[in-house]
Amino acid sequence: MEVLLAEEYGFCFGVERAVDMVEEALAEGSTVRSLGALIHNSQEMQRLEAEGVRTINAPGEASTDVTAVIRAHGVTPEVQRELETRAARVIDATCPFVTKVQKLAERAAAQGRDVVVAGNPDHPEMIGVIGYAPSNTYVVRDAGEVANLPTLHAPIVLSQTTLKLQTFLDVAEAVRAKADAEPQVINTICSATRDRQDAARALAGEVDAFYVIGGRHSSNSVKLLAVCKEQCEKSFLIETAAEINPEDLEAVERVGVTAGASTPNWLIEQVLARLREIGQRETAAVS
Ligand code: SF4
Repeated sequence: MEVLLAEEYGFCFGVERAVDMVEEALAEGSTVRSLGALIHNSQEMQRLEAEGVRTINAPGEASTDVTAVIRAHGVTPEVQRELETRAARVIDATCPFVTKVQKLAERAAAQGRDVVVAGNPDHPEMIGVIGYAPSNTYVVRDAGEVANLPTLHAPIVLSQTTLKLQTFLDVAEAVRAKADAEPQVINTICSATRDRQDAARALAGEVDAFYVIGGRHSSNSVKLLAVCKEQCEKSFLIETAAEINPEDLEAVERVGVTAGASTPNWLIEQVLARLREIGQRETAAVS
């Protein structure tokens, strides 16, 4: 059995950067506290917990003997300031792609312009962005919600980094109809999710079975599974190698593997090793 890995898989740039920053702090001997779960992968969280990393839910839970980490989603400036007064040190692991959205919103608001961000207003990334321009920012889930907004003054239109392109384009079009001037439209969608989906789609048509490694509650992993299932019926979402059922691989000649943006490499390596082991056993059984 041949085991094929998709061209793009696993940790995105922002998550890898955040984990690296935490590892560096641990190596320096710091007591690390993450404001909110650092990563949406329970196995990686358990590994980090074993290294001493704990999650806090509010800046007030930080103390002067800890290094506090702002995760890739970012936070509001108020939360960052409070964290800085409470903790010995703050590591800002906000993904640079998210920082860009925050800065664009802040700058437009300082010019007295309205800011429309296409995204989920309850998502931590959006809560952080709103904090950079609280009185001028509207976060809308889709074009339909734009109809409820007041007339928009010289608006800038931005997107949550993980949004679907079509939703963003529809929102931008709807804003045009509500604005007193031609809106400035800046696509701030990050390509990590799309790249992983495109790579999985390309591979799914060439294999007999497909494993997506990721958390069951990770939306990008669930979407990857849906993409794979379109072309490969035998597609499975697994969190660890232990979930692979060898019976699912009977008569399978080629198996594809990909992983969500929060899945660490060590978990991927374990799955690849298990699949190769099953593949070798089957070859031995046939010969
Ligand atoms: S998905 Fe994109 S924006 Fe979000 S953390 Fe990863 S690289 Fe950054």
